[in-house]
Amino acid sequence: MPQGKIYLVATPIGNLKDISFRAIETLQTVDHILCEDTRTSAKLLKSYGIQAKTSSFHDHNKAHKTPAVIKRIQAGENTALISDAGTPGISDPGFYLVREALKEGIEITTVPGPSAFLSALVISGLPTDRFVFEGFLPKKNSRRAERLRQLINETRTTIFYESPHRIKNILPEMMDIVGDRDICLARELTKVYEQIFRGSISGAIKAIDSGGFLVKGELVIILAPKSEKCIQ
Ligand code: SAM
Repeated sequence: MPQGKIYLVATPIGNLKDISFRAIETLQTVDHILCEDTRTSAKLLKSYGIQAKTSSFHDHNKAHKTPAVIKRIQAGENTALISDAGTPGISDPGFYLVREALKEGIEITTVPGPSAFLSALVISGLPTDRFVFEGFLPKKNSRRAERLRQLINETRTTIFYESPHRIKNILPEMMDIVGDRDICLARELTKVYEQIFRGSISGAIKAIDSGGFLVKGELVIILAPKSEKCIQ
């Protein structure tokens, strides 16, 4: 039997309708779907009548699980990888699987689609010609401050993933280090409670303190480059 392939299949970041025909077709025809969280993906798979076998593949089991996954693919199993939301490989264990599979000569195919960082960037109103993706800032205060200091002279728009419960601490830290720059907070993109803040960092802090901008759900922060003028 010929060796199977890995399909990196992008799934919606909130609105279940944001899935491609090819993504559905791929998920319907593969032998196995690796999900970051099988319970989270069950809703999506059920709504598109996808019945392939699923199993979990996340940060805590990736190292242990990858050799068995690769063995099954070498024996002919076509395998899709999906993350909880968006494009697998962006701030999730997808990169690890891709790197290990490439070492074994396994073919990787992409089925492209949504990613939260790109949707947030394009609606931010901040420059899109040059940007840098920083993913999640470090949890440790000293390492986070060090990372933010590296952005003092950044001339590209910077994108961060963040959890809403940390945003209240991070914004004042950011303002202390990079100054009161323009920022966009994009929350719950494509979902019913989508909310976007555009303005200065100090304005964002005020909006959060007054309850005008909610700190719930999922969030992307877009920070203006060093020299960007006020957008509001
Ligand atoms: N692979 C995903 C992608 O392509 O966007 C990202 C996975 S990462 C573990 C999850 C982070 O993505 C969240 O903490 C949040 O920062 C961001 N995110 C995911 N869905 C989002 C949404 N609907 N609105 C805003 N941010 C979102």
